[in-house]
Amino acid sequence: MSLAHGRPYLAIPGPSVMPDRVLAAMHRAAPNIYEGKLPDMVETLWPDLRRVAGTTQNVALYIANGHGVWEAANMNLFSRGDRALVLATGRFGLSWAESVRALGVTVDVLDFGKSSPVDFDRVETALRADGGAYKAVLCTHVDTASTVRTDVPRLREVMDAVGHPALLAVDCIASMACDEFHMDAWGVDVVVAASQKGLMVPPGIGFVWFSQKARERCRTSDLRTPYWDWAPRADATEFWQYWNGTAPTHHLFGLRESLDMLAEEGMPAVWKRHEVLARTVWAAFDAWGAGSPDIALNVADPAHRGRSVTAARMGAPHATRLREWTEHKGGVTLGIGLGMAAPSEPAYHGFLRVAHMGHVNAHMTLGALAVMEAGMVSLNIPHGQGALAAAARVVGSAV
Ligand SMILES: *Cc1c(COP(=O)(O)O)cnc(C)c1O
Repeated sequence: MSLAHGRPYLAIPGPSVMPDRVLAAMHRAAPNIYEGKLPDMVETLWPDLRRVAGTTQNVALYIANGHGVWEAANMNLFSRGDRALVLATGRFGLSWAESVRALGVTVDVLDFGKSSPVDFDRVETALRADGGAYKAVLCTHVDTASTVRTDVPRLREVMDAVGHPALLAVDCIASMACDEFHMDAWGVDVVVAASQKGLMVPPGIGFVWFSQKARERCRTSDLRTPYWDWAPRADATEFWQYWNGTAPTHHLFGLRESLDMLAEEGMPAVWKRHEVLARTVWAAFDAWGAGSPDIALNVADPAHRGRSVTAARMGAPHATRLREWTEHKGGVTLGIGLGMAAPSEPAYHGFLRVAHMGHVNAHMTLGALAVMEAGMVSLNIPHGQGALAAAARVVGSAV
């Protein structure tokens, strides 16, 4: 039998759960893009979008996913022949590096592996050795594959201590509106995010926030084409210029609603909710892992874990069997293990991820963990006892 009939829960790290309020806001006839409700409403988005990223500076929107805003940032940041330093803490830094390299920029990658945080001594050495040539340092705030979180203020400190002039660009696609972030206070020059993760809107809007410093330093970047140029989007005087063409009409109504929801909750409470739900998942894995050497979180130190998604190993083929069980028997879809092993390798089936990203509350996370434990029982996957009680204690003592 299956107990999956009911509301399904997509607990993969993007796209995330769409709130009914967002869906309802999008459910409408095609709006006029020349005047009226849509252009008027869009003018209200800019202060809220700045607030979510912690900046008073520029914001440009694109009809794009995360890969698209990587390229938007790249094309504004760099000229052919420029140099960039990329810090990779999993899969996504490596992919961003590839997208920069493909444009004719010379890229040095510091690869910290699949479960370790940035080693700032190595960063300092690389910055000192480079003599100020790097135009930008690129990093991932939370790598969605490894779920390693980068200490961005510490990175800024290291760049300042070395006196390196490089711009600092951060991929916040997995962390925006989930994990605490302050673009201006942390000295970040360029931030990219996408609508389908913490911002709770379907995939289709990409965000690039950029500092005045980045704007001036990059004025002559020669990779830029009219479509990707961030300046006319940030400074639009006519509505079409925000998108360089037709606006993503319905997504914008969804975004207005999601920004209202974030404002009603308040960003500190949004971050706190993600923190508590993350700790809830970690507590369950710690208890399961106490009874099985195969079960463990990917990132050993909680200080270096992202708050929106958790990667774990369960021993092959248990992770894949459990994912299939939770989806088809319990209505909860968990994330695949990304970048840990190739899908053709047997080891691939030993990794999974649990998202706790965006429109997620206590009963969803506790429910997902309970369904996982039910699956382990049904599939005879060895696991320690007490995980659900431990998870409930995290919630109960936080609220
Ligand atoms: C999801 C994600 C991406 C890629 O976004 P797409 O919308 O799938 O192109 C890039 N970086 C991070 C950190 C992500 O979480």
